[in-house]
Amino acid sequence: MRRIILSSGNKHKINEIKDILKDLPFEIVSKDDLGYKDFEVVEDGNTLEENAIKKAEELHKLTKGIVIADDTGLFVDVLKGQPGVHSARYAGEPVSYSANNQLLLKNLENVPKEGRGAYFKTVIAVIFENGNRLLVEGTIRGHIAFQERGTNGFGYDPLFVVEGTDRTFAELTEEEKNQISHRAIALKNLKEKLEAAIEDFGTK
Ligand code: IMP
Repeated sequence: MRRIILSSGNKHKINEIKDILKDLPFEIVSKDDLGYKDFEVVEDGNTLEENAIKKAEELHKLTKGIVIADDTGLFVDVLKGQPGVHSARYAGEPVSYSANNQLLLKNLENVPKEGRGAYFKTVIAVIFENGNRLLVEGTIRGHIAFQERGTNGFGYDPLFVVEGTDRTFAELTEEEKNQISHRAIALKNLKEKLEAAIEDFGTK
């Protein structure tokens, strides 16, 4: 069976990816499984796409296998797309979800609900054995709450109210979030594209 290597060491992400791709004829392994625990890439791209491709290509150079890498950001309309590609380090170092959330609330002070629109976007890059690339994405719209709500999830989850609901991601269970999230949508798109790629390769 062909193998897909995940450039992430994040257990939640690895389980989510394994679950969504479980019906495909690929063995899914993480970089840690292959002894690349210390593999890190400086995420200095201007876009999520650049960062995801960079992460996938650097690991592909080492392993020569099929590699999947992702990058995610929260884009707030009124802040011209910030924190965006800088979401992880919005409030600087040391990285702190809480400091990021407080800075976001501060930057949206006095902005009414109608002006607080935002979306999460995940880009997933795949590099195949022959160097061919595939890019997919997933987005979900919502708005930024006036204060943190809920205790589940991570990152900006307590501030992101899902469009069409009055709940933040942090007020959803992990299962509920994983049905609708930006990452879930990107992964479902990835599954479809991989199925088509398998047919092209004639391995089905
Ligand atoms: P990464 O590319 O998945 O590492 O995400 C970059 C940053 O975006 C993280 O450090 C979080 O701050 C934020 N982020 C990514 N995914 C989510 C999510 O599902 N909920 C909340 N914040 C997220």
